[in-house]
Amino acid sequence: MEPGRQTPVLGEYDVVVLGGGPAGMAASVAAARVGRSTLLLERYGFLGGMGTAAGVTNFCGLHANVHGEIRQVVHGVADDLLSRIDRLGGLNTPHNLFGKTVAQAYDTAAYKIAADDLMVSAGVKVLFHAWACGVLMDSPASIRAVLVETKSGRRAVIGRTFIDCSGDGDLAAWAGAPYEKGDGQGNMLYPSTMFRLNGVDPRRAGNAWEVIPRLMLEAQAAGRYRFPRKTPIVRPQKSGIEWRVNLTQLANAQGNAMDGTDAMELSEAEMQGRRQIASVAGFLKEVPGFEHSYIVEIAPQVGIRETRRVRGRYMLTEADVLECASFDDTIGVNGWPLELHLKGDVEFRWPKIPQSRGFNHLPYRMTVPLGLDNLWVAGRCASMTHEAQSAARVTGACFVMGQAVGTAAALALQAGCSAVSVDVPALQSHLQANGAYLGQDR
Ligand SMILES: Cc1cc2nc3c(=O)[nH]c(=O)nc-3n(C[C@H](O)[C@H](O)[C@H](O)COP(=O)(O)OP(=O)(O)OC[C@H]3O[C@@H](n4cnc5c(N)ncnc54)[C@H](O)[C@@H]3O)c2cc1C
Repeated sequence: MEPGRQTPVLGEYDVVVLGGGPAGMAASVAAARVGRSTLLLERYGFLGGMGTAAGVTNFCGLHANVHGEIRQVVHGVADDLLSRIDRLGGLNTPHNLFGKTVAQAYDTAAYKIAADDLMVSAGVKVLFHAWACGVLMDSPASIRAVLVETKSGRRAVIGRTFIDCSGDGDLAAWAGAPYEKGDGQGNMLYPSTMFRLNGVDPRRAGNAWEVIPRLMLEAQAAGRYRFPRKTPIVRPQKSGIEWRVNLTQLANAQGNAMDGTDAMELSEAEMQGRRQIASVAGFLKEVPGFEHSYIVEIAPQVGIRETRRVRGRYMLTEADVLECASFDDTIGVNGWPLELHLKGDVEFRWPKIPQSRGFNHLPYRMTVPLGLDNLWVAGRCASMTHEAQSAARVTGACFVMGQAVGTAAALALQAGCSAVSVDVPALQSHLQANGAYLGQDR
């Protein structure tokens, strides 16, 4: 038992957003642009979420294979961020993946600067180094304040509406929203610690990603290395001397995916990731062109793909992704396939290409948690099954959900209604007027 305490109020806002990843940034910008006082809470001193803190350095899900033609299908706030990164010289041209789609690499430093500029230009107030640690409720269905630990001490932030973009569903869970973890048998997507190499000779390295899987098998057969997983992702950044490496896989003592909401497992995973990186980087020096490579950065934190998935008014399913489902309450689209990080490997499952339109609608209802009136959830902790989350957790879909919930919170405040009662056609018109693509023309 801790003694009771009085907690100073840091401020009162129309919209309080937890988490400065792609979902939280887009949500904050959308709410602030329509004049709502908006506070974005972030535990680190920079924005980007897994995209910077976990060293992802690559946008997936911005594009889809639409009947054989690769098209950018995520716009709106995402475009405002992309153009800023590009102006800083930090955006690569999209690169082909499996002959089926494209992804787009970026530099982390440019992303951080661009994100700051986007928040300032939209009028978002950002509170960095603020670790949310609890909620105060007005009633079982209504949040009054979120509690944060800061260097100034513990503070309460009062809000009229709240948006959980923590990736882990922290706020929703504390407020009592139901949630799920994993596939029902305790298996979540495995996390990875990302790192980048510098000093690669781009001419000699060429398309090294095509030969690395074979070289890994040979090194493993010869007993020189044991790799944590198959299906490596080793690709150049904008400057060809720098490559990102996505090849680690982090497990707990039972061999299951490490749980990013378990403090002890999370801590153990940090060292486990760096141990794996030391070994993988040693192996990569054997790859032609990588002889003089060195680790230029290990991501600040373990990359978490899946923890809590908050249960909402609708749960996006595997069939929705594979069959390119349509929904009347679409808020935008997901064009990324299922990408399941399973024990020792990564498995992709695609919609039919090129027969299908290559994307599914994301319904507004997947952002509205059950039982709460003034809370939305967006990003990788939104309402999706384990399988569907493996697709719509990537950055493109997180931008889409974020912009939609920021807009929805503003509309709810204007109408004096709860999240579930938001006028969806009005939301859709607003999103389209602000550049979003809802996928209704296909
Ligand atoms: C190893 C790895 C590789 C990936 N590769 C790709 C890829 O190539 N392309 C791609 O598009 N996607 C990739 N992804 C997925 C993608 O990066 C994430 O799913 C996406 O960033 C999720 O966005 P989000 O906004 O929902 O949450 P996050 O990006 O997780 O952001 C959540 C934010 O909330 C903050 N936060 C959390 N809890 C608290 C708290 N209690 N108090 C204060 N702040 C808090 C965090 O610091 C973070 O900034 C990868 C993910 C991983 C882990």
